Amino acid sequence: MTKKVALVTGAGQGIGAGIAFQLADDGFAVVLAGRHLEKVQKVADEINGKGGKAFAIEADVQYRAQIFEAVEKTVEHFGQLDVFVNNAGIAHVAPIVDTTEEDLARLLDINVKGTMYGIQAAAKQFKKQKTPGKIINASSIAGHEGFELLGAYSATKFAIRALTQAAAKELAQDKITVNAYCPGIVLTPMWDEIDAAMSKLHDVPLGASLKQYVDGIALGRGEEPADVANLVSFLASDKANYITGQAILVDGGIKYV
Ligand code: NAD
Repeated sequence: MTKKVALVTGAGQGIGAGIAFQLADDGFAVVLAGRHLEKVQKVADEINGKGGKAFAIEADVQYRAQIFEAVEKTVEHFGQLDVFVNNAGIAHVAPIVDTTEEDLARLLDINVKGTMYGIQAAAKQFKKQKTPGKIINASSIAGHEGFELLGAYSATKFAIRALTQAAAKELAQDKITVNAYCPGIVLTPMWDEIDAAMSKLHDVPLGASLKQYVDGIALGRGEEPADVANLVSFLASDKANYITGQAILVDGGIKYV
């Protein structure tokens, strides 16, 4: 039997790499797309070294053509596409009143437009194949509540929930499901950057902001990429065939909806 194929954006580190490892363990052939080829290639090499099937592609999600090309290369390489994980995203720490036009544009380009283009490219391919497909988007606890100093970022994560719901409604007739995962405080390079920026703004030592957030988690520890990957593994599986349009929290107990 041919393997099902999953494409994960932003798979060179953090949550995206965790998702790629998990989906490879689940038996998917995995395509890792990222801005820096050497980073995604390293993760792909590790998966291939362990007997999995992985392929790395350089693609910047803010450019529509590059996402469509990534899907084309995926199909050239592995023959089909079954799951598309719109994971790539950036954060930016600033009070709303100090957020510049450039920073806002960058967040919208990568987080919102990138996710929109990913949905478009995946849906086009699934429809062409006439197969069911799964689109899985990265939202956040910040997609359920606007966080201070993360106002623009939170707005992009709310937008991703909106796209998830609308795309789920539009694509259901083609047996394409669209869902989102909403992590909490995941210990990745993104949080290192958030912590460093918050420590500057609040004039507190490095690590203090992260600790404050982690102290508020009911389950008493920071989140690992594997915690997120476990949810994505389920959403990518046949067990989630009857779930669509949902933005599911996986945060150890921060937000309760
Ligand atoms: P990260 O910064 O550690 O990794 C993100 C990866 O995406 C990097 O490899 C980066 O190069 C890549 N990327 C960034 N812009 C890109 C672009 N334009 N095109 C292609 N690749 C690009 O972040 P992470 O913590 O692993 O977060 C992954 C996703 O999960 C993001 O969408 C983020 O918003 C979301 N998320 C993270 C947390 C958290 O606490 N870390 C919480 C909730 C949601």
